[in-house]
Formats: sequence, structure tokens, C-alpha cells
Amino acid sequence: MKVELIHTSSYSANAYLLSDSKVLIDAGIAASGALPEALKLSLKNLELVVLTHAHYDHTSSLVDIIECSGSKVAIHRDDAALLCDDHASAAVMFDAAAPEVDVDMLLFDREVLPLAEGGGLEVIHTPGHTPGSICLYHRHSKSLFCGDTVFAGGGVGRVDLYGGSAEALVHSIERLMELDVDVMYPGHGEHFSGNICRSLELSLSLAKSML
Ligand SMILES: [Zn+2]
Ligand SMILES: [Zn+2]
Repeated sequence: MKVELIHTSSYSANAYLLSDSKVLIDAGIAASGALPEALKLSLKNLELVVLTHAHYDHTSSLVDIIECSGSKVAIHRDDAALLCDDHASAAVMFDAAAPEVDVDMLLFDREVLPLAEGGGLEVIHTPGHTPGSICLYHRHSKSLFCGDTVFAGGGVGRVDLYGGSAEALVHSIERLMELDVDVMYPGHGEHFSGNICRSLELSLSLAKSML
């Protein structure tokens, strides 16, 4: 599967463009929210933004993206209420206001979002970092988009923000370990392949140490 990383600053989270530029995973592209003109052009065919969770660093450009593409917005039902809340979305930590947007699709665990190319994106509900955090699994290419749930080399997302839970995170990582994954695309840092099992084992022990 062709995955295009959009990353504009160390402040912003990774965004991943898939499926003939019709699906975007996360929308924290520009710190100010405003998108560069060239990027607006490449997003004009976008149909769906899927948010891995409601944190502002993953949503800062959401309003601009909807404006230039007419894209719909999908988020897990347990994070939908956080999205437009300055505190629960952590927007205040960035001296910003949460985006004012309507959610078009409330996602649930195991739902499959269709893609233009082979197979679909499976929603894996992975609470812990936030109550409605999700990972997106593309079974055909064994790719996992893991948001802020786990990072390369055994990292995990923090659990001390609104709705965070170390216990839930442990359970979520255990679920991820059951998947057959060749490459992981996290919300921050480089994508990684290779010893995914080892990386998840390290993430699991880190999460357990936070209990
Ligand atoms: Zn986050
Ligand atoms: Zn993040």
C-alpha cells in the first residue's frame, strides 16, 4: 500500500495520506492550523479524515482540510466528545482552541473502512492514551497506524491526560500483539518495521510499569 507521510514540523503529529489521496489518517499538519497552498492542492480529492484520537496535535488543521476538500471526519465514539473541548483535547497545552467541527462518522471497534486499494482499514479500539484512541490495521499489507498508543522502540503514549488509563493501555497493547504486523506508522517519529514483536513487548512492559 502506498503511504504518504505529511509532516511539517516537530510540533505537529504525523499525518498519513492513503488510497489515491482519498483517506487521511490524522490532521495535525500545521501548528497554526493553516495549510500551505501546495498541500491544499494535494488534499483536494480527500473524502475522509480518520482521527486516531482527539488530541489537538492530531487535529490542528482539521477545519482547513474540511474547507479545502469537503472531507468527512471520523473518530471513535469515545473520543468524539473530547474533539471540540479545549481542555479534553489538550488544545490549551498548545495555547490554541480546539477545532469547531462536526463529526460525520462515529467509529466502533472492528469496523472496517473501505479503501480504493486492496482490503480496508480495520478499526482497533485501543484506549489508554485517550478513551477513544484507535489503531488502524490494513491486513493486506500488514500495516498498523498506531496513533499515540505505541511508538518505535517500545514507547507508549502518556496516560496522564484527560481520560487516560495505564490499565486500559496494557490491555490495548496486548490486543495489538495478536496482530500480524510488518510495519507500524506511529503518530510521532519514524515508521518502523523489523522486530515489531520486540518493540510491542517493550511497550507492554513500559505500560505495566505505569500501573
Ligand atoms: Zn495524543
Ligand atoms: Zn500526539
